[in-house]
Amino acid sequence: MEQKLSNQIALITGASSGIGAGVAKAFAAQGATVVLNYPVEAAKDAADAVLRDITAAGGKGMTAQADVSKEEEVVRMFADIVRTYGTVDILVNNAGLQRDSAFTEMTLDQWNTVIGVNLTGQFLCAREAIREFLRRGPQPEKSRATGKIICMSSVHEVIPWAGHANYAASKGGIHMLMQSLAQEYAPRKIRINSIGPGAIKTPINHSAWATPDAEAKLLELIPYGRVGVTEDIGAAAVWLASDDSDYVSGITLFVDGGMTLFPGFSTNG
Ligand code: NAD
Repeated sequence: MEQKLSNQIALITGASSGIGAGVAKAFAAQGATVVLNYPVEAAKDAADAVLRDITAAGGKGMTAQADVSKEEEVVRMFADIVRTYGTVDILVNNAGLQRDSAFTEMTLDQWNTVIGVNLTGQFLCAREAIREFLRRGPQPEKSRATGKIICMSSVHEVIPWAGHANYAASKGGIHMLMQSLAQEYAPRKIRINSIGPGAIKTPINHSAWATPDAEAKLLELIPYGRVGVTEDIGAAAVWLASDDSDYVSGITLFVDGGMTLFPGFSTNG
């Protein structure tokens, strides 16, 4: 079967769990060499385990430590990847976290942590990736685009989220960061898009689906009637990273079972 990402080097940030691990597995199955980023030493074993699954399935790659909110660590990680593999072809800006709080109780540290990882982290990684795409130039034998970036956003780039103002602000920020970069670099044949996941079963939202009661409540928000899985995002990411989407630039692809269709209005006519 044709592999959609053959010979391409893909960095996936936050790849030791959840959606990042799912995207890495989907990319590796399509022939990409994957770099699995993880933030701190404590996450190394989990990243190694994802890499073992990938190599056992015939894929290839490496792990790479860097806290995406720290400029020197991001710069060092990209230099390591270029030294090892020669370049980077695809960046999946996936790392993210939540520090939830009622707004009046929210500390500056909670605000800065979420903006630092979710938004500044995407800025730092996108900047290094685009610098590398421009340095090495087009590689038509690999892909029609000179480079591709996928920003992991959320339905909360458009759905407000009480009690999560820092997270929603970070995802709203990703939307305009992504579109501004897409506008700036489309003429250089660099495609930049976002995925907006709805509710996907991962550690970040475990309490929202861990019990039947919690899952039933969550399903009220999902017209399609099931909670998403990481494979749903992996498939969308493969499409956005491959030449199948060569004419797609500057969009958010919501992968959310219809969560952004305002399902509350279906019974409120
Ligand atoms: P997750 O907690 O499993 O994954 C987040 C990953 O980010 C972890 O591997 C974590 O180690 C990594 N990370 C955290 N801080 C980091 C840092 N400073 N540097 C590098 N990596 C760091 O949760 P997930 O659901 O897989 O989340 C992945 C992305 O998807 C996030 O951006 C999240 O906002 C987004 N998202 C998830 C959902 C969902 O329902 N699960 C919905 C919408 C958006």
